[in-house]
Amino acid sequence: MLHHGVNVLAQAANTNHTGKNLLNRDEQLIITFYGVRGSIPSPGPATARYGGNTSCVYIELASGNSLILDAGTGIRALGKRLAQTHQTINILLSHGHWDHVQGYPFFEPIYQPERRIRVFTSTQGEHGQLCSLFNQIDGANFPVSAEQLPSQSECITEDPAIILGDENIIVRRARINHPGGGYAYRIEEDGTSCVYITDNELDPPHKVTTRYDQWVEFCRGVDVLIHDAQYLESDMPTKHGWGHSMVTQVRQLAIDAEAASLVMFHHDPDRSDTEIDFIQQENDAFFRGRRAPSLSVCAAESMRIQLTPQRGKATRIDIN
Ligand SMILES: [Zn+2]
Ligand SMILES: [Zn+2]
Repeated sequence: MLHHGVNVLAQAANTNHTGKNLLNRDEQLIITFYGVRGSIPSPGPATARYGGNTSCVYIELASGNSLILDAGTGIRALGKRLAQTHQTINILLSHGHWDHVQGYPFFEPIYQPERRIRVFTSTQGEHGQLCSLFNQIDGANFPVSAEQLPSQSECITEDPAIILGDENIIVRRARINHPGGGYAYRIEEDGTSCVYITDNELDPPHKVTTRYDQWVEFCRGVDVLIHDAQYLESDMPTKHGWGHSMVTQVRQLAIDAEAASLVMFHHDPDRSDTEIDFIQQENDAFFRGRRAPSLSVCAAESMRIQLTPQRGKATRIDIN
């Protein structure tokens, strides 16, 4: 146990999970983007359309389970929505860098007495990520300390798929090529699939944790590939080794893995809306006439992707 309100769970957890699916929908997996920016929040007129909040993606599974990927500043707005529900909250952390944990002190459900929150993290990696969400809530760097939080939080190092206790949900992890380490996730449910790979350098100059061909296999045939595309070739060689990928590398991964759709994510804080529009235009031209990916977008706050399984056919993907 780290704090009164924050337990470290190392044993197999019970499988009594979540609340109800509150949305009216028909067997869909829904991905909603609450923060798409890398490194540091970047609000302002130049980034208003794609958004300035840092990493946070919400996945609602058809089973009624839901998963939050990372707790950057985007999680604040998600917290306002979830505060109206009673469901158990599941957070999968990629790693503990600020832009992936910084929103958590402002996540409304942590102040709700009956709220159960499970944080899936890891003790692996150079710096260790265990409970990095709570370490910042220490009474000095933030006015509240984690011991004072009324919610019931657990840090879990077990496989998320085991904890969720639903045999139809598969969660796989892969280690990212990033300073300090961390994890990417592949989530599958009843024939629909999504991969979340943020803060990953596909071709790093330092020791490779996961090779390119292993990434291709990890992403093979996925419905939605979300990948860090922070840099352009013009950013190199200065930023080679900083732990992020170039747009051109991510395009190639989507092709090699035959991903049905590609979402470029973790935009550089200095990348304006106009510049991201230009990347989108270039992507559209590059992918034209190719079989996969059939859809490509640059992530934007409030963007929703709906995956609908089709019997005997490829998953229907709707982006809006
Ligand atoms: Zn990041
Ligand atoms: Zn990082």
